Amino acid sequence: MNIVVGSINYDFTIYVDRFPEVGQTVTDGTLFESPGGKGLNQAVASARAGSKTKFIGCVGDDIIADMLLDFLKQESKKNKNFQHTLIVSKGKTGCAFITVRSDDGKNEIVVSPGANKRINKSKVYQELKRSKFDSILLQCELEEDIVEMCIHFSRKNGKRVFLNTAPFKEWVKDVYHLADFVVMNELEASALASRLKLNSDTSHIARYLADKVSGGALITLGEKGAIFCNKKEFFHMPAFSVRSVDTVGAGDSFCGYFASFISRGYSIKEAVVYASAAGAISTTKKGAFSSIPYINEVLRFLKNSQKPEIKELSAS
Ligand code: ADP
Repeated sequence: MNIVVGSINYDFTIYVDRFPEVGQTVTDGTLFESPGGKGLNQAVASARAGSKTKFIGCVGDDIIADMLLDFLKQESKKNKNFQHTLIVSKGKTGCAFITVRSDDGKNEIVVSPGANKRINKSKVYQELKRSKFDSILLQCELEEDIVEMCIHFSRKNGKRVFLNTAPFKEWVKDVYHLADFVVMNELEASALASRLKLNSDTSHIARYLADKVSGGALITLGEKGAIFCNKKEFFHMPAFSVRSVDTVGAGDSFCGYFASFISRGYSIKEAVVYASAAGAISTTKKGAFSSIPYINEVLRFLKNSQKPEIKELSAS
């Protein structure tokens, strides 16, 4: 089983023709509501990919928490792989306010973390202790001490650790090397590079990370695909060609699928192909949560589309 300890939000997404300038109002947006948070999205992606997955997160004691709980119950009903444990903390539930530009799917996001900031460490610890799991998937939307505790607990107990360094936080530079696999996008990679005083070329960063992270490092490059590097393999997987309408959540689908396929014993290249297909499919639909594909859709997509050729890269 995979465990995801991470954020859960209620997402308010507004589709607009153009982003407002500072001080401007855009009045003709269209609202779309859905559950979200990188933690929840990645847990759902891992479960939809076919792995038994338990999500552990924290909500407030407001009406938004009830709305989220309804969504989670529906998800568990539709997909027996998906389980969840919600910790409740007094106050507001996390919310994300997302603006998506309709013509190219580009987005701007503002998050109010709410209960995600108040998750109780000892409750998470107890939950980890009582859960049987093989791998844990973490992101950076919870506080550093929670993520660190999850990493240390998992390492001590021989569990595989996937760390998605999104959104970038300063403390990532102190913990990333403890993960078995790190996944980051181009922006996060260049933020980490600048903290580590590295040159910001993505291949250079990937090679540097490969030395520190036992399983390897993946840097996702949006429509340019992803590069992977560890001590044995270094390659570029180009993106599948799709008509994107909304790129929100591509990274979440990618991470959940990658973790699921690695934990089920697939090779790194196979896991990257499935993850890339899931990421590409997710950009063809609006929203993050609702656009996370189920494995059947990914298998159909792989059968019917031209698989981009993986290019081996040179480590020197
Ligand atoms: P994030 O959402 O974290 O910024 P990326 O945008 O890098 O992550 O996307 C993650 C992966 O999803 C990419 O490596 C790629 O495989 C796939 N992907 C993202 N955008 C596109 C796109 N426009 N077309 C095809 N695949 C895409």
